[in-house]
Amino acid sequence: MENFVKKFTFYLLRWQLSTPILSVVLIALASLNKWAAAAIANLIGGTIFFWIDRWIFKENVFLPLWEIKENIRCVDCGRIAKGFRLVKTPNYDRTTDKKPEFRCEECSKRKLEELKKRGVKI
Ligand SMILES: [Zn+2]
Repeated sequence: MENFVKKFTFYLLRWQLSTPILSVVLIALASLNKWAAAAIANLIGGTIFFWIDRWIFKENVFLPLWEIKENIRCVDCGRIAKGFRLVKTPNYDRTTDKKPEFRCEECSKRKLEELKKRGVKI
């Protein structure tokens, strides 16, 4: 919910940014047909705001992202087991980890609690 309010507020502010752009373009193109001027203004606005809107609406619906592998050696206890590795959360990113560490289920739970204590959002 908090994220929604933040995004919505940002979205309304972003719409306000389009006001001066629209005005400047419409004044500059005032001699053209009104419809053509509006269409050109929207093309310019769309080109700029596509990138901002895409960023606003980017959803992290797949987070937290975990990698699971069969038969790994747990980095904590050394047991061969099914391995778990937390890859990405809203404020934790190990997607480019050169030496990914896998843990057995128990050690993975312990590590997850550690990460939560350190402020990682799950
Ligand atoms: Zn383990």
